[in-house]
Amino acid sequence: MAVVPGGLLGARTLIQASYFLTAVLFITGLKRMSSPLSARSGIVWAGAGMLVATLVTLAYPGMSNYPLIGAAIVLGGVLAWWSGKRVAMTDMPQMIALYNGMGGGAAASIAAVELYRGGGGSQVGTALAVAGGLIGAVSFSGSAIAFGKLQGLIRRSIRFRGQQFVSVLLLAGALLAGALEVLHGGAAGYVTGLLGLALLLGLAMTLPIGGADMPVVISLYNALTGLAVGFEGFALHNAAMIIAGTVVGSAGTLLTQLMARAMNRSLGNVLFSGFGEAPGASTGPLSGSLKPIEAADVGVMLAFAHKVIVVPGYGMAVAQAQHKIWELCQLLIERGVMVRFAIHPVAGRMPGHMNVLLAEAGVPYDLIGDLEQINAEFDTADVALIIGANDVVNPVARTEKSSPIYGMPILNADRAKNVIVIKRGQGAGFSGIENALFYLDNTRMLYGDAQKVGAELIQAVKALG
Ligand code: NDP
Repeated sequence: MAVVPGGLLGARTLIQASYFLTAVLFITGLKRMSSPLSARSGIVWAGAGMLVATLVTLAYPGMSNYPLIGAAIVLGGVLAWWSGKRVAMTDMPQMIALYNGMGGGAAASIAAVELYRGGGGSQVGTALAVAGGLIGAVSFSGSAIAFGKLQGLIRRSIRFRGQQFVSVLLLAGALLAGALEVLHGGAAGYVTGLLGLALLLGLAMTLPIGGADMPVVISLYNALTGLAVGFEGFALHNAAMIIAGTVVGSAGTLLTQLMARAMNRSLGNVLFSGFGEAPGASTGPLSGSLKPIEAADVGVMLAFAHKVIVVPGYGMAVAQAQHKIWELCQLLIERGVMVRFAIHPVAGRMPGHMNVLLAEAGVPYDLIGDLEQINAEFDTADVALIIGANDVVNPVARTEKSSPIYGMPILNADRAKNVIVIKRGQGAGFSGIENALFYLDNTRMLYGDAQKVGAELIQAVKALG
């Protein structure tokens, strides 16, 4: 499939033109995905690009094995359609981790096929296939662990002495096997060594990473998968793979930077430090008590407030409470209350999670502020209304050096005059630690499922006339 025979100039031109069209469709799709208003159509544009790329690749002169390819497409298509339809919105991050892994695994498999059958045609081709194989295999096994952590199958960060040394050793071993394959070519032992060590490296890199740092890891594997596909595209001379891989790789790299900045961590710090370790970690001594409050009292507090800042978190996504919360906010706005929404970059379980939910509920963008824009406003807010958020408002991030979330910028909800926390019980956040905010004098706990409590608050505000 690599190079179109020179004689077939017409076919070659047509194929290159189709790949150009694919590039346009991918980039337009990505551009449209950058705004919640046009994101849905962005997915359709990118999907159309993928369809064109697949059809063109199938029409490549010299292509064979159609029944096998057809069976794989049908099997993969049916599985993806079925799982995509069934998956709950709250399980979307796991699904993304899984698809990231699939992409990396596919790139590594292509590399394996190319390398086992004698390399990429030249030393440069082999080097590109080796690079794609290494990165793809790391992304495959690392994403599988990320999936396990998000799904709750792996509850702890697994650490052992000399962990970093083992990772460096695995990387060095994989690089050595790759270099030997480039120099000597076609040796099955080197290829197996390269891929095996790379798979182990993905495990070793991801197992120790704790809860709060997962957003950075997921974005990183997204970027790596893109890179791996891009490298394999070069090795196979397939323009569509190069374009798609580069687009995903660069978007993933930007996202990784954004997520790392949101956690106030460098990538090296996430991958190689002890931070982010989950349960059991110290939160420091928490003083005070949890003080419950009734929905009727909160209704009065909200209705007579001058300014309310809503902080949505993962619990709002679980409860699908965004519609009820927006209905409540509309009632407050009608009463003259100034309402704002504060979004932390890592709130929820995937980048942009809260933006998507609020957009779905119809919250106007000018009411939404991100961390930097809105943090100063908490000082002047009468009520910070926390809807199923926990880690992103935990003040220990500012003070407790031993805390897994130490250093992560948080929303300054504790600085509001009153803090109302809606959650079901004593459940911890994703990082597994207790929240000092809940024990403060100005905090009251409104227990219950966020959607149910939202409905009660609506009734309470309406009852005030
Ligand atoms: P958290 O995970 O810290 O806390 C969510 C809270 O919601 C829990 O304490 C839970 O308490 C409550 N909750 C759950 N279900 C409901 C419900 N039905 N109704 C009301 N409350 C509910 O969420 P945050 O958004 O504050 O923080 C996100 C965390 O996830 C961060 O640690 C982040 O690093 C991590 N993460 C983020 C990713 C991203 O890309 N955004 C990806 C992976 C991880 P209770 O059980 O008592 O109700």
